[in-house]
Amino acid sequence: MSPVRVIPLQAGDCLNLAAITERGAPWRVQAYPAGFALLLHPLHGPVLFDTGYGAPALQAMRRWPGVLYGLVTPVRLRPQDTARAQLAVMGFAPQEVRHIIVSHLHADHVGGLRDFPHATFHLDRAAYEPLRPLRGLKAVRRAFLPETLPGDFEARARWLTFQAAPAELAPFSQVADVFGDGSVWAAPLPGHAPGMVGLLVPEARGLTVLAADAAWSVRAAREVHPPHPLARAAFFDPAQEEASGARLRAFLKAHPGARVQVSHDAPESWP
Ligand SMILES: [Zn+2]
Repeated sequence: MSPVRVIPLQAGDCLNLAAITERGAPWRVQAYPAGFALLLHPLHGPVLFDTGYGAPALQAMRRWPGVLYGLVTPVRLRPQDTARAQLAVMGFAPQEVRHIIVSHLHADHVGGLRDFPHATFHLDRAAYEPLRPLRGLKAVRRAFLPETLPGDFEARARWLTFQAAPAELAPFSQVADVFGDGSVWAAPLPGHAPGMVGLLVPEARGLTVLAADAAWSVRAAREVHPPHPLARAAFFDPAQEEASGARLRAFLKAHPGARVQVSHDAPESWP
């Protein structure tokens, strides 16, 4: 089986204060990409890791209380920017996408789920359970807009099952073999959000690490650049977040040939 190919993409971006994303950075507004990735899988076709923003997320942000989300992090998304539109340009119809691996349920990661009606959603059950009962302000406060999830979300969800990681994936001790063939590994990176996962994907050129929101920048994924205490306070579990960041940095140190993509920064090129 030929290896998977990972194509880092973005669907829209959001405006945020640089000083919030990294302690010591200037207090100016900066645009951050809403990154996602297309995995070209030899058996499963086009597989998505998150979707970035999408029309349902924007709709929810026009209504109360979703409008608060847009006030805190204003979103820019043109119709041609959505995952669905970009895949169409590449020749993939929405129904060809059978698998979407979801890092976590923040609106800038699942905003396009409704655009892929035939996809199974692979995620950690721990990402969903704490958010499932939340509606209104309580949901928005967790950056979760329930309207972004399709009505049949639970029926289409396939919970990741974690097992002891192969030695070469240390220091991750638990990973999930998403397709059961070693082609795509999901690694727990909880803290920023409950049950967040990243992906470890062996490609022909080396290992690609899709780290979701475990760090705000590629720089912070590789070296210690903590976010502002205000941002840390918004995390689901700040202590878990710090531990996940440390594990990610240790993993990247142990795999100097790997490239890393975090959701809100330009993807790294191969070393
Ligand atoms: Zn997030």
